[in-house]
Amino acid sequence: GRSPMLLHISWFTECMAAREPVKIEPRHLLEDALETLSKEASFCGSDGRSLAFIRAASVLRSLPSTLTTIEELNRLPGFGEHSKRVVQEILEDGFSAEVERVTQKEKYQTMKLFTNIFGVGMKTANRWYQEGLRSLGDLRNSQKLKLSKQQEAGLQHYEDLNMPVSRAEADLIAKMVEEVAHSFLPGTIITLAGGFRRGKLSGHDVDILITHAQEGREEGLLSKVIGQLQSQGLILYHDLKRNSYHDAFSPDSKSTSNMDHFERSFSIFRLKVASHIGDIGARDHSPESSKDWKAVRVDLVVTPISQYPYALLGWTGSKHFERELRRFSCNEKKMVLNSHALYDTVEQKILAATCEEDIFLYLGLEYMPPSDRNA
Ligand code: ATP
Ligand code: MN
Ligand code: MN
Repeated sequence: GRSPMLLHISWFTECMAAREPVKIEPRHLLEDALETLSKEASFCGSDGRSLAFIRAASVLRSLPSTLTTIEELNRLPGFGEHSKRVVQEILEDGFSAEVERVTQKEKYQTMKLFTNIFGVGMKTANRWYQEGLRSLGDLRNSQKLKLSKQQEAGLQHYEDLNMPVSRAEADLIAKMVEEVAHSFLPGTIITLAGGFRRGKLSGHDVDILITHAQEGREEGLLSKVIGQLQSQGLILYHDLKRNSYHDAFSPDSKSTSNMDHFERSFSIFRLKVASHIGDIGARDHSPESSKDWKAVRVDLVVTPISQYPYALLGWTGSKHFERELRRFSCNEKKMVLNSHALYDTVEQKILAATCEEDIFLYLGLEYMPPSDRNA
């Protein structure tokens, strides 16, 4: 028989292919509810419970049409009792009392606010909550708080960074990066990855992969690109990390860390935007309202061409799709998949790939285009 994961993936692909225009409302109500419970669980340190809700939301997303009865749920894989109960509540009453209760909780609201700050993880957010801090104002006014440079930038640009980035803005930034990269290294290949590659119309950041057809030519390019953009006043924050795959990368390491070893920068760009028509002649003439730029989070990742297909697969996401795919390759194929390579633990060798299709083939899966990876 086929493995559950394989079943799930092919079933998922079929559903996506047969997908009709969806009625947004109820589907989103259910997904948002499960997402809230997933967040709440992770804020409480229950990663397993959090993942169960993410799985349930992912199953809902892959349904060809809106769910209307609880019986339909019983036929689906990956739907736990708790998730079922919540969905049933919403289908019957239009809302879930449990979810309502969670969203009212001060701890939930504060943790959500704090973890939405660039550079702030669960640990830090929780510590601040325990110290009695509740709002961005509390953080900004606190005298004793020791913020990292990243957190400082995140706090400073909080409002901009929590506004969705449009496809047009993403394309603009990719073009800016491409132009500068070409001025240093003709032939540099720039690819928009992340949610935008999956066809999403907006995102929380812009994920850009950088490579060159000649292996090794790409090394050191990123610092030049960032330096150039910085001299043009287009960078609000950046943290350049050197690549570490020469020393640190061991393909058969049992490490479950999701961090990869590419040369990269998680940065904040200063993007020029057409100033808002509505602001002209408005009463409010504060500099904030006539601001003609927007802070945008940009992840820049440089990869040698030999690892590029793996980097592309890894950085296209979604996060949940990557997690499931890696789990599948490990459990079902005894292969370790990450953003650098696929390692066959039985044959004890690294499998070279020239494109994403090669990787799906190694895993015995039918190729899934990026638009099918929104799990
Ligand atoms: P959004 O619109 O919210 O940005 P997204 O799918 O683009 O959605 P990202 O957080 O930008 O989400 O991540 C895109 C992909 O890059 C994910 O699949 C994730 O696994 C991968 N990724 C993100 N951060 C890292 C990291 N530090 N190391 C390795 N891979 C990462
Ligand atoms: Mn992204
Ligand atoms: Mn990203």
